[in-house]
Amino acid sequence: MRVLITGGAGFLGSHLCDYFIERGDEVVCMDNLITGSAKNISHLLENPNFEYVEQDVTRYIKVDGDLDAVLHFASPASPVDYLKYPIQTLKVGALGTHNTLGLAKSKEAKFLLASTSEVYGDPTVSPQPESYWGNVNPVGPRGVYDEAKRFAEAITMAYYQEHSVDTRIARIFNTYGPRMRRGDGRVIPNFISQALGNKALTVYGDGKQSRSFCYISDLVEGIYKLLKSNYHNPVNLGNPNEMTILELAEKVLKLTGSKSKIIHKPLPVDDPRRRRPDISIARSELGWEPKVGIEEGLKLTINWFREGEHG
Ligand code: UDP
Repeated sequence: MRVLITGGAGFLGSHLCDYFIERGDEVVCMDNLITGSAKNISHLLENPNFEYVEQDVTRYIKVDGDLDAVLHFASPASPVDYLKYPIQTLKVGALGTHNTLGLAKSKEAKFLLASTSEVYGDPTVSPQPESYWGNVNPVGPRGVYDEAKRFAEAITMAYYQEHSVDTRIARIFNTYGPRMRRGDGRVIPNFISQALGNKALTVYGDGKQSRSFCYISDLVEGIYKLLKSNYHNPVNLGNPNEMTILELAEKVLKLTGSKSKIIHKPLPVDDPRRRRPDISIARSELGWEPKVGIEEGLKLTINWFREGEHG
């Protein structure tokens, strides 16, 4: 296969590049590096099956040669990042998805959209099945990401129905692992770097809001299985093991052996109170479920953060 991965120098994208290269496929990695990092793919640059193109996918995309699949992973994904780049976030979800769908259509390639659990907003049902339509504030601070991804899903379905592009939609829940930037602002890199730096862990609000965290290797396998499937409706990919943010903070303290304190900071506006995927469809349609437990995944991530100056 020859695959294009947009956002290929980001956290998820770079692990996908590794996965396809290890399979022996050819990878074209595209990124504009606003939140991605060249360091994430530097080990692949000498590989003859790997090509890196620095480009903003909101502008017209030209790729020479055949493509078998387009995986559209370009987008800021941390709340801190998409609040810093609101217009770019809207553009990459809207214009970037349009451009990458057009490219997939012209190359007769499969297309896989990286969508998100944020399409459910602050959910009123738990766990969230794909049939739940969500509870999103379009004009709140998260609206730039949530609505961009909701538009991206709509245009992906339209290209499937109108142009018969062979599309897939992954709704990705909180994922973590090596290569998350230290300053990325998401809870796991924040807590780990705070614990290792003997700084207080910053729990937002009372810490009773929940999330369900999926380790990167599980997620990558889910994406690959979805690409290989023949399923065109959205599929939740995530780990159903739900915990509160306070529980997560305690786990990070235990696993790092840190003596850091926990302090509370204001809860960001529209912060979802709970999030947990219903993965029945991934189980039945893809034969997929996560294998890496939170303690094992956190240990691997902590070790990576310990190894050097990352991010
Ligand atoms: N959070 C926290 N402390 C931090 C960073 C995040 O308590 O230093 C909380 C945040 O308010 C949210 C949860 O952790 O409830 C997950 O936040 P993250 O930014 O990782 O992603 P989200 O799931 O909100 O998109």
